[in-house]
Amino acid sequence: MPKFEYAPAPESRSIVDLKESYGLFIDGKFTDTADGRTFKTISPATEEVLAEVTEAGPQDVDRAVRAARTAYENSWGSISPGQRSKYLFRIARLVQERARELAVLESLDNGKPIRESRDVDIPLVAAHFFYHAGWADKLEYAGYGPDPSPLGVAGQVIPWNFPMLMLAWKIAPALACGNTVVLKPAETTPLTALAFAEICQQADLPPGVVNIVTGAGETGRALVEHPGIDKVAFTGSTEVGKQIAKACARSHKKNTLELGGKAANIVFEDAAIDQAVEGIVNGIFFNQGHVCCAGSRLLVQESVYDEVIGALKRRLTTLRLGDPLDKNTDVGAINSAAQLAKIRELSDIGEAEGAERWSPPCELPAHGFWFPPTIFTGVSQANRIAREEIFGPVLSVLTFRTPAEAVEKANNTPYGLSAGVWTEKGSLILWMAAQLKAGVVWANTFNRFDPASPYGGYKESGYGREGGRHGLEAYLDV
Ligand code: NAD
Repeated sequence: MPKFEYAPAPESRSIVDLKESYGLFIDGKFTDTADGRTFKTISPATEEVLAEVTEAGPQDVDRAVRAARTAYENSWGSISPGQRSKYLFRIARLVQERARELAVLESLDNGKPIRESRDVDIPLVAAHFFYHAGWADKLEYAGYGPDPSPLGVAGQVIPWNFPMLMLAWKIAPALACGNTVVLKPAETTPLTALAFAEICQQADLPPGVVNIVTGAGETGRALVEHPGIDKVAFTGSTEVGKQIAKACARSHKKNTLELGGKAANIVFEDAAIDQAVEGIVNGIFFNQGHVCCAGSRLLVQESVYDEVIGALKRRLTTLRLGDPLDKNTDVGAINSAAQLAKIRELSDIGEAEGAERWSPPCELPAHGFWFPPTIFTGVSQANRIAREEIFGPVLSVLTFRTPAEAVEKANNTPYGLSAGVWTEKGSLILWMAAQLKAGVVWANTFNRFDPASPYGGYKESGYGREGGRHGLEAYLDV
């Protein structure tokens, strides 16, 4: 238990001007849908309705794609690269100016702690636009030939775990390379994308360059299957990613997929154990474990198993779960009832398959969607909790004796998005990084992101890279 109690330190909501209802953002304006359908977005921490949002149907998606095409042909595709840079810089500055408001809005709609939306998500959003503003007029030096051209109109579909950050990962490179976009945010977290639409207006971005259509899977499907799209960028589940890959295979569309993961976080006996424990906690309990690259499988060298698990359990008893807007909160709400049901189901299966479940003493709020930080020990590789993505605050612990065994276990997954290695030995880090089939390998850290660093997966974690020089390729005709 914590040595002393923390007084509540809630961030004020008053900085956010929530509207009762939001339209679609098409051709630079907020508009109604053709058939008047709407849905509600709620706060997962309280189940309070935050706003009513428009559900875009195929006609609306078509209108958005046409607006993006017209903008591509009449303005964005032909303005100078320096002008594109200017707009991206403006957007980055506006994100910084509105950072506190965006962080509160993100925490309200998503359930993530304000500490994370304020210190991680929104600063990274601004960094992504700054970084790509720098590329827009230097594409000829990116290694894709002397005059790389854009693809045209990009259809982009994103998930709910990092709503505004995923938007930035999609929109910033697309615009920097001269494309226009139609983006669909996830149905449970549309609000920061709609605030971003206002930022596009504030930045005087030419109408139609960015269009935001809200809705669920059917809206996403209408977008990615629209014949007027030249490029599909999707982040989400492997299951939906496979459907999208099939649909794109029958067309001219270029596509990139960022899908699920089941990352190994590997702790060797010579690691700095206290630091490793912080890395394990950050790896799986950051953002309630709603992280595609979460370190959800902990591999501990047998000789330090007791020490690591003891320290980890002690550390977990100090985590504070509760109000996402409280500045002291470490673990926020699960994003939706459906996701909570999935986490509960897989955790119950873990127990039924013989793994030992442990959570620190922790009171869950009466309303909203909550799941305590949980670790499973005695997990075998065949267990479903060691193979399937839980996408929640649940860690499966396995052990190993030799580096070769660690590599074999780490790679024994259909996914390949990320991995972590904790050791004092540089040579072991380099050897492990070469052996691990993962798009990102962190050494003595975890869940570190930088717009200059390419990010993406192997195997069923998808293909294509986002961020860095490599990420530009996805939006250029190369
Ligand atoms: P999801 O695939 O159900 O939904 C993602 C998005 O796709 C949502 O906007 C949804 O409305 C839309 N969608 C659903 N069905 C569609 C269809 N048939 N056609 C087009 N769009 C459709 O995933 P989710 O549960 O919302 O998100 C969690 C998943 O995202 C996890 O598996 C996670 O690993 C993955 N993810 C991956 C990354 C990455 O970079 N690799 C990042 C974040 C999340």
